Amino acid sequence: MPRLAVLGQPVAHSRSPAMHTAALTEMGIGGEWTYEAIEVSPEGFDDLVRSLSAKGFRGVNVTVPHKVAALAIAGVASDAAYEIGAANTLTFANGRIEAENTDAEGIVGSLPHSPAGMTALVLGAGGSARAAVWALKEAGADVSVWNRTESKARALAAELGVEAGARPAQIVVNATTVGLQGAHEGQHLHGGGLPHLKHLLAPDDGLKVEVVLDLVYASKETDLITAAKTAGAVAVGGLEVLARQGAASLRIWTGKDPPLQTMRRAAEAP
Ligand code: NAP
Repeated sequence: MPRLAVLGQPVAHSRSPAMHTAALTEMGIGGEWTYEAIEVSPEGFDDLVRSLSAKGFRGVNVTVPHKVAALAIAGVASDAAYEIGAANTLTFANGRIEAENTDAEGIVGSLPHSPAGMTALVLGAGGSARAAVWALKEAGADVSVWNRTESKARALAAELGVEAGARPAQIVVNATTVGLQGAHEGQHLHGGGLPHLKHLLAPDDGLKVEVVLDLVYASKETDLITAAKTAGAVAVGGLEVLARQGAASLRIWTGKDPPLQTMRRAAEAP
């Protein structure tokens, strides 16, 4: 019986088991394939991953804080995983560990149309910002990256060949943790050089935003999504990216097209 899992710490809150189990059931292979959550510390990560194939695992999703370690342990990596410097999907096949980063596909796939030829601003310089910058650039957008700690934005921009700094853009992607409930609730985007949200999304002169993608998935609408709607932009929340990156992983493991709408619904359910 092929097994799948998500590895993280903490991982109990993850929507991935519900999302993948619902998809496997609808695909008619729910009695055959299983998907579970496994909590593992950074110290235990490598030993655990190396033991999984022998226990019947075909693949795993990898979440915080293991995405960089997941790339490092793999024998083979896709261009996306290698260039982003992190992997969220491992596949155990042909006696080796293969790494992919499906966050990139999830991010670009969540946009209402191709970003080719459009200007894009990514907020943040952590792991998901790297995936967003790489994916948007790869898809042909003119990308700029802003971060609260400016030096990290400059380093990321130099490494991935984009601009550093905040500027109004047609596509704005929030890849910071601002908007997350719990530890970060009540926080607002701030930092040197970032215009007030209202001016960023609807500047008096210059480019008006067309699409806002907030990677944060929260049960209530984030301030950014509310502001995007007010500015007349297409607003896309993080659950769409979550469902799409999950579907892309499941396609790799099963070779079948997963039911995206079912995954969206399962990701949303509390
Ligand atoms: P990370 O590596 O920890 O990076 C966090 C980023 O947020 C850093 O750039 C940090 O800036 C910035 N930040 C934190 N507090 C801030 C504040 N008050 N004002 C401005 N910037 C602030 O996190 P990550 O793994 O990239 O994840 C980022 C978000 O994306 C999380 O909410 C995560 O849940 C979400 N995500 C969603 C999906 C999905 O499928 N929808 C996938 C991946 C990630 P400094 O560098 O200055 O500290």
